[in-house]
Amino acid sequence: MRRTRGLGRKKYAAAVTAVMILAGLLAGCGSEEPQHSARVELGAAMPIEGDSSAAGKSAELAVAADLQPADGEASQVAKVVVAGDSPAEGDDGDAKETAGSGDAPEPASSEGVELAAKAEATTPPAKQPAVTTPPAKQPEAVKPAALDIPTEPSVKFAGKKGAKLVALTFDDGPDDHFTPAILDILKEKKVHATFFTVGIQVKRHAKVMKRILQEGSEIGNHSYAHKDLSKLDSLKIVEQIKWTDININKQIGYVPRLVRAPYGAVSPLLKDIVKQNRRELVGWTVDTRDWEGSTVAEMRANVSKNTHAGGIILMHSFGNKYVNNTVQLLPQIIEDLKSKGFTFVTVSELLAAKKK
Ligand SMILES: [Zn+2]
Repeated sequence: MRRTRGLGRKKYAAAVTAVMILAGLLAGCGSEEPQHSARVELGAAMPIEGDSSAAGKSAELAVAADLQPADGEASQVAKVVVAGDSPAEGDDGDAKETAGSGDAPEPASSEGVELAAKAEATTPPAKQPAVTTPPAKQPEAVKPAALDIPTEPSVKFAGKKGAKLVALTFDDGPDDHFTPAILDILKEKKVHATFFTVGIQVKRHAKVMKRILQEGSEIGNHSYAHKDLSKLDSLKIVEQIKWTDININKQIGYVPRLVRAPYGAVSPLLKDIVKQNRRELVGWTVDTRDWEGSTVAEMRANVSKNTHAGGIILMHSFGNKYVNNTVQLLPQIIEDLKSKGFTFVTVSELLAAKKK
């Protein structure tokens, strides 16, 4: 049969999905026929006769799932479709090879061909509204309220009013190389800073996370995979923040209040989500541009010229080899700013002082 020749795994999965949707729609109408046609179609599209690959099993499960109460229908089918797209271990190559070989079996009967053709012709696009399909549950999941309330202990600023404050911030870590070097300098200079951490790194460096906290610095959320949050929808934004929250909470025992958007890229939607979830979106006032290989001298001059009271200085504690320059720069700017009368605080202390 033409349709099955050279059918790639993705096309196969798409065909299975389309058929399952059709089966779902028609089964919802109480018709027996669609299930039959769905099975015939699946049989025709199966890579090997008698193959009991995960895809085949899943397809059958999907049909079975359609018969369950409408309540759990959408999610169950969705799950099975995903499973159908990921054959069991070792199946992948076989399926591809067989599907591409042109040896796929013909449908068992001409009736099968007819039904399969009918199914193909009448298969609606996935988004077509159907009277019998319950509303998808997803919209609930994208509510901004999906984030946990931050449990970071509230911070007070103990210094005197009108003090010249500055916050040092380090993004994209932690790691086990640059971040410890930065922590060594902060410890020696008796300065606290704020680390905007990326979820993937948080997962890998529990020890460094704990050290940051133990030595008096603060931890903020800088997304899970350093995505441009301004380009994402609610669900994806919430995921990026939440997955990092979970990992931070696991490592240091609280859900942070501070969020810094990767690249400083902010959308009205992101602002809204952050606000509704009682978080603080934190930017910066001085960008050292350490990430692009600025020299230590350039960065030192930049910081010296552009740092004012209430300033937030952006640096990185992970990312590329240029963080070596950051490590060299740090003691120099600490001394420069101290000599100008600045007091180093965490971002939360800075925010608290502003509210004072
Ligand atoms: Zn970043």
